[in-house]
Amino acid sequence: MSVLVTGGAGYIGSHMTLALADQGDKVVVLDNLTTGVRAQVAEAATFVQGDIRDTKLVREVLEKHQVEAVIHFAGSIVVPESVENPLFYYANNTAASRDLIEACVASGVKKFIFSSTAAVYGATDQPSIAEDGIKAPESPYGRSKLMTEWMLADTAMAHDFRYVALRYFNVAGADPKGRSGQSTPRATHLIKRACQVALGRVPYLGIFGTDYPTPDGTGIRDYIHVSDLIGAHALALGHLRNGADSSVFNCGYGHGFSVREVVKAVERVAGKALAVKEMPRRAGDPPMIVSNPAKLKAALGWKPEHDALDEIVAGALAWESRLNST
Ligand code: UDP
Repeated sequence: MSVLVTGGAGYIGSHMTLALADQGDKVVVLDNLTTGVRAQVAEAATFVQGDIRDTKLVREVLEKHQVEAVIHFAGSIVVPESVENPLFYYANNTAASRDLIEACVASGVKKFIFSSTAAVYGATDQPSIAEDGIKAPESPYGRSKLMTEWMLADTAMAHDFRYVALRYFNVAGADPKGRSGQSTPRATHLIKRACQVALGRVPYLGIFGTDYPTPDGTGIRDYIHVSDLIGAHALALGHLRNGADSSVFNCGYGHGFSVREVVKAVERVAGKALAVKEMPRRAGDPPMIVSNPAKLKAALGWKPEHDALDEIVAGALAWESRLNST
């Protein structure tokens, strides 16, 4: 029996693959390497280069490796890109996930863990948001993921199939053992970009929007260390293996930081001032999104171990300094 990790050459998938191998699971990685990096795949894993839309290949992999559970990371994740090219997001995220879920049902895979997102909620004036919060995605990215959650819920009603959808808040940082980190070329995420500025690889950090209704006018996000996020996946897999019902969980710490606070953290950790440029808001960005993590803690016993912004930044900066490109 093995676990299939789609997108296992990507940032979060590569950490998942390491964690599964560490706990003694057999892992198969399926990744088309459009944004993933082959070298990031744990040596202990079997690597298959291919696309989750290639149903014939997926069914071969599921059957050949006796896949017991699928952890599905493969997809596109850039909010403004989804605003510019929505149909690509509906193809690469929604339609591709549909094909993967169908292949799982056809091959008798009964457990599925899905990388969902806080972007399914959209704008809120609440200090934090729980799983039953209103779903009003602000971007095609959020909608592409919410539609996948609906497909999973419908599939679980109709078939012998259970799933956990994990709604990620803002994932950052690197493996504390230094084995993986955010390596995606041209990544757009705040902490990675700020680290690139600190390393002198990018001339300045754009601050996208300074007129949000937040205390310092910049966007607030709940930054979660990638290792704590992976811990939630490991618990979710155990939960499904124990026969638990399908469920949806938020993955965040329950407190947020503004863009300016993140800039200050990077300055503290790097020991230097960052060049910043105030810019207009970015399309599709809500002002504030912070998790209510109560359900994840109560139902799965999740205990975060890296809930410290400076630790997250230090890991991201150390990893970034080992890469030689932006
Ligand atoms: N952001 C920014 N400059 C950047 C990248 C991001 O000001 O170069 C802001 C963005 O507008 C949002 C926050 O940082 O308020 C987090 O954005 P990111 O792209 O990291 O994640 P998202 O929340 O969009 O998934």
